[in-house]
Amino acid sequence: MKVLIHGGFFSESSQSDGIKTAKQEAMKRIISLTHNYLCNHSARETVVYAVRLLEDDPLFNAGTGSQIQRDGVIRMSASVMDGQSKKFSGVINIEGLKNPIDVAALLQNVEDRVLGAEGANAFATSKGIEKFSTETPQRRKEFEEKMASNGIGTVGCVALDANGNLAAATSTGGKGFEIPGRISDSATVAGNFANDNCAVSCTGVGEDIVSIAVAAKIVTRVTDGMNIQSAFNCTFSELKGIDGFAGAIGIDKRGNMFWQESHPKIVFAAFDGINLTIFK
Ligand code: ASP
Repeated sequence: MKVLIHGGFFSESSQSDGIKTAKQEAMKRIISLTHNYLCNHSARETVVYAVRLLEDDPLFNAGTGSQIQRDGVIRMSASVMDGQSKKFSGVINIEGLKNPIDVAALLQNVEDRVLGAEGANAFATSKGIEKFSTETPQRRKEFEEKMASNGIGTVGCVALDANGNLAAATSTGGKGFEIPGRISDSATVAGNFANDNCAVSCTGVGEDIVSIAVAAKIVTRVTDGMNIQSAFNCTFSELKGIDGFAGAIGIDKRGNMFWQESHPKIVFAAFDGINLTIFK
């Protein structure tokens, strides 16, 4: 049983040493809760659980604390991929609710598994999910200062459960200050992908992640026999070719964990039940 989480890049938003330490502390708390949860739950349930905790922490750009788009509205995207069933589900540009990842998780059991904007909101309402404002004073201040245009700070989780099943989940408030209607990578197979060989979650500039199909490519390379480290290296060298900005975390079916970033510094944490590592 192993789990890795990420909380996007430290460069996201206006950062200080205090925020950096707070993010590290939050990662520590969330990864140990997540590892405990994984002891009695599947990889799929666990990645949703971890991402929900990350969404609820206003330090991260997902759920509460999401970036604000150019027109002053928060639109969030999230996805889940169950490596065993190979089902991808997600919501794109959903508004006004607390946990986009919960809606993405509910869609695992529905035939039409990726919903956008109004459709995603209507589906959430039909499932009894209540309205909630995920705006924080900090994000409004950044928006007003037009600082949010540099924001990168999605959250994600990959897990390997006791039965050897893998899953990945990713959630984002987007790049910040984007054109309304822009589609993030986080609810696509480029930003979040898993099968029974490997699970990957990405953060960074969605356009770059989609251009290289980062998560899907790493998983495919591992499936075709490459080791996880080479699969990351190969994919990140392609990303470098377009001067792309991204980071990713991954885990394979043997429990090998790997992570890489094109630029410093993503905040992430890994836990295998014995060793807890907090990066950056
Ligand atoms: N990947 C996200 C997006 O482009 C942003 C992020 O990772 O913070 O929407």
